[in-house]
Amino acid sequence: SIEQYDVIVIGSGGAGLAAAINAHDLGAKVVIVERMPTLGGNTIKASVGMNAAETRYQEEKGIHDSKVCFYEETLKGGKYKNDPALLQQFVEKAPDAITWLAQQGITLSDITITGGMSIDRTHRPADRSAVGAFLISGLVKNLNQRHIEVLLDTKAEQIEYHQGKVTGLRVVDEYGESRILQTKAIIVATGGFSANTKMVEHYRPELAGFVTTNHKGATGSGITLLQALGAATVDMAEIQIHPTVEQHSAYLISESIRGGGAILVSQAGDRFCNEMETRDKVSAKIIGLPEHSAWIVFDEQVRSQNKAADEYLAKGFVIQGEGINDLALQIAMDPAALTRTLTTFNQAVRQQHDPQFGRTTALRHPLEQGPFYAIKIAPGVHHTMGGVAITTRAQVLDTQHEPLNGIWAAGEVVGGIHGANRIGGNAVADIIIFGLLAGEQAATWVKTA
Ligand code: ADP
Repeated sequence: SIEQYDVIVIGSGGAGLAAAINAHDLGAKVVIVERMPTLGGNTIKASVGMNAAETRYQEEKGIHDSKVCFYEETLKGGKYKNDPALLQQFVEKAPDAITWLAQQGITLSDITITGGMSIDRTHRPADRSAVGAFLISGLVKNLNQRHIEVLLDTKAEQIEYHQGKVTGLRVVDEYGESRILQTKAIIVATGGFSANTKMVEHYRPELAGFVTTNHKGATGSGITLLQALGAATVDMAEIQIHPTVEQHSAYLISESIRGGGAILVSQAGDRFCNEMETRDKVSAKIIGLPEHSAWIVFDEQVRSQNKAADEYLAKGFVIQGEGINDLALQIAMDPAALTRTLTTFNQAVRQQHDPQFGRTTALRHPLEQGPFYAIKIAPGVHHTMGGVAITTRAQVLDTQHEPLNGIWAAGEVVGGIHGANRIGGNAVADIIIFGLLAGEQAATWVKTA
C-alpha cells in the first residue's frame, strides 16, 4: 500500500509534536516519524520551564515584564551572536505559544526565574513539577485525540528532493527494512547533537570526556539529512555545557533549585560566583575550581517549594544533614567555612544585596531552616545552539540563502536563535514557538502547492 501524506514530521520532541498538531488542525494529513521506541525526545527531560514575556499569567501575578527586556536579556546572554530577526520572532510569539498550550489543556501558570534573566518569566506547571514530562504527556494526549499517526522505531534516512521538490522521505524501520513515504512537505524536528560525542568533539575538542545530559537520540542526524540537500548551518561550535549535572547518572539538576534560592559552594566551603549568572559563566567558574566540581546547597524551605528536589532525594543524589555542621561533615567540608558562608549569604538575602558576587535575583529567603541539603555537581554537555539556518517562517535555507522548497525545521536542530549561549527556559519556548510556526507554514503551503 502507498503511504501518502501532506506533511511528514521527523522527530517527536516538543517541536515535532507542536508542529504535527498544528499542521493537522489546519487540515493536513500528518505522520510523525520517530527513531526511538518512545515519544518525547530530549524535551521530556526539560526541567525548569518556558520563558515568555507579557503573558496573562505574569499579569495575574503582578509581574511587570516587557518583550523588549526579554529580547535584550536573551541577546546579552547569547553574547550578541543571536540572529536578530529570529530572536524578534521568538520573543514576539512567546505569549501566544503559552496561550496555545493552555488551549490544549497544558497550563503553565506558575512562574520562576533562570540565570541571565532579571524578571520571573519562566512558566511551569502549577504544581512546580518539571516542565518536560508535563508538556510531552499533554501534547501526546492531544495527538491521540486527533488520531495523528506515529511511526516509532523508524529512522528518517534521506529526504527525496529532486529538481527543487520534495517527493518523499526514505525511512528505515526497526527490522532494517527501508521504504519511502510519499509527501510534498517535511518538517525536520530532530533535536540537537549533544549525544553525538564525535560531532561534539569535532566542533569543540576541549569538550572530550564531558558527560551529556541528553537522551541517546540526540545525534544530530537531522543536520546531516539537510546538509545533503545543501542546507546551510550556523554557530555549530556553540555548544552549551550546563553547570549543574550529577556526574554518576549524568542527570541534570534543574536551575529551578538555584532559582528557588539555593547557592553553589566549593569543597572549601565558599561561594565562588553569582549562581544566577548564565550557564556558560557558572560552568567556567566550576571548571576553574581545584576539584572541577561543586555543591548545590539549600535548606528545607527551598526543598519544600520545589518538586524537583524530592525527585533528586528519591534518586539518591542528595546528602542531608539536620544542621549545617552535620551536613558539612558528611560532605568532607569544613563546618566553620560552610557556617560562615551561609551567614554571609543570609545577610545578603535580608539586605537584598550581595556585595560578594552581585547576585540580584532569587535572593528568596535566608537558608536557615533544617534539614540542610547538598548535591554534588559538575558541568555536562547540554545543548547545541548551532544547527541549520532557517527563515523567520521556519523554512530551511541553503548555503546561497535560498529557502529549500517544501522543507521546514524547528527546535534544537535549528541554529541562530540562542547565539553563543542559551538561556534556561528558552529551549522549551523555542520548540513550541517554532514548532507551531513550522506546522502552520507547511500545512498552509501544502494547500496551494
Ligand atoms: P526538540 O527539543 O527540538 O523538539 P528533541 O530532542 O526533544 O528535540 O526531539 C527530537 C526527536 O527527534 C528525538 O525523539 C529523536 O529521537 C528524533 N530523531 C532524531 N533524528 C531522527 C531521525 N533521523 N529519524 C527519526 N527521528 C529522529
